[in-house]
Amino acid sequence: MSMETGFSSALNEKALRTPEEVQAWVTAHPGSAVWIIGSGIAGLILAETLVRHALGVPVVVVTGDPPAEKRMIDGCSLRRSTVVALADGMGVPPEQLFSRFRVEQSAFPKLALHAVDVRAGALQPLSEPIIVGPAPTPGLSGDYPIGLSTRHGEVLLSLRELVSDRVQLVFARVVSAESSGGSRLSLKFEASEGEVVLPAGHALFNTTPQEGLWKSAKNRTPRPAPRRVIVSQGPVRLKAGVPRVPAAWVPTWEGSRGPHVAIFTPFWDAGTPEATWYALNTRVSSAEETDSTAQAEALAEVREHLQVVMEAYGLEPLDWEQASFDASVPSVRDFDLVSAVDAPYFELYRVVSSGVPAVNTDGMLAQALGARRLGLVLAERHREGWHTATKVAAQRTKRELRPVRWWNAYSVWVYYFAPLWLRRRALGWSTWMLPKMVKDWAFLGLNRVV
Ligand SMILES: Cc1cc2nc3c(=O)[nH]c(=O)nc-3n(C[C@H](O)[C@H](O)[C@H](O)COP(=O)(O)OP(=O)(O)OC[C@H]3O[C@@H](n4cnc5c(N)ncnc54)[C@H](O)[C@@H]3O)c2cc1C
Repeated sequence: MSMETGFSSALNEKALRTPEEVQAWVTAHPGSAVWIIGSGIAGLILAETLVRHALGVPVVVVTGDPPAEKRMIDGCSLRRSTVVALADGMGVPPEQLFSRFRVEQSAFPKLALHAVDVRAGALQPLSEPIIVGPAPTPGLSGDYPIGLSTRHGEVLLSLRELVSDRVQLVFARVVSAESSGGSRLSLKFEASEGEVVLPAGHALFNTTPQEGLWKSAKNRTPRPAPRRVIVSQGPVRLKAGVPRVPAAWVPTWEGSRGPHVAIFTPFWDAGTPEATWYALNTRVSSAEETDSTAQAEALAEVREHLQVVMEAYGLEPLDWEQASFDASVPSVRDFDLVSAVDAPYFELYRVVSSGVPAVNTDGMLAQALGARRLGLVLAERHREGWHTATKVAAQRTKRELRPVRWWNAYSVWVYYFAPLWLRRRALGWSTWMLPKMVKDWAFLGLNRVV
């Protein structure tokens, strides 16, 4: 895929593709401007919120690489509230995105919790599955989806399709940035590379996980991540004759180093259209497991156990050479803004992080809600100067994301670190508490039922 994939032809026509084109654009815009690094969920929603809420200064997105074509990197399951938050962020009705994500194929109306045992390459059920829908909610039918699954690349493409013509795209990666009167950006384009100098009024917002692009700042060093999430995921389908129970199945079991939590859900993806389900297994490693041998062993077990559990559920992998993804991803525990002291350069990835990604399906939700809040506050306060406005925006975002982060931390504890008896109890509570919890799960982060 090229960097321009998914954007409208109007945006592609005026996009900047060489250092000379970028420098000419800067010369024509000597006042204030916003540069957003990265075209992930946070980058695109921040850009769109700023142009829709009359920031009144040009908004540039340096896109970086295009979405992965087939491989399922990053998150694939979206709560109902995540779809609504993405739609709010891009200024379209939620129905438009539900339909874009083929809700009739990708959605699940219930959760199914199941304690199992995985030993000697086989699965033993430890309990009957608890299949639970949300508590009755006025105005909603019992069958409405609580979530859906599609490839992360598909989510990013759907957002790219909605970016309005008021945004200015630069098809490049930022290699580094440093202070030079204003800011000096080193850019790598598809066919060339070079440097551009931005005037002092141009602010830079890094929304990518690649922190540290800013070279010369005497920054506060964020507290290191204490945990990693170890993940294996890929597209699957039900074997012939296996009944389709339309729920997100969540089996949990004890591995040799600690608990595993998997999720199997209905799924749609244009990249692997034969796949009807999605499979993911996760472990969260503790601080003692940081050396690379322990990490590799943990990843091997996550992958191997996923295959055993999938087999027992009647799921078969599809196209895993090209579409599956195994990873060990660091968590974020320091959500505070990091900025350069000598220029308006801000690290935003941690400001919109949920904490431990790939757990509790809230990474994309935090990014969507957080980027919109940042954009709204920046649009309101930017005349006070970029440092003040961004500091206030980051504080408000922290407040807004508190419930999402609370549930992320609680889920990490209750499913991966609590004593075994309590983890089992957490499943047992389900019978009476879960309908309410499932409803809250579906609407987490929204102050309304949609
Ligand atoms: C395996 C896995 C499973 C997950 N499962 C879920 C889930 O089920 N549900 C959920 O909600 N969350 C989940 N998450 C978390 C969630 O995926 C992430 O929080 C979120 O999706 C990150 O996506 P993003 O597209 O915004 O960011 P990224 O994919 O990190 O996007 C970053 C953007 O920045 C660009 N970029 C990078 N470097 C540069 C550069 N130097 N210059 C310019 N641009 C650059 C990239 O091209 C990209 O456009 C999961 C995460 C992982 C790893």
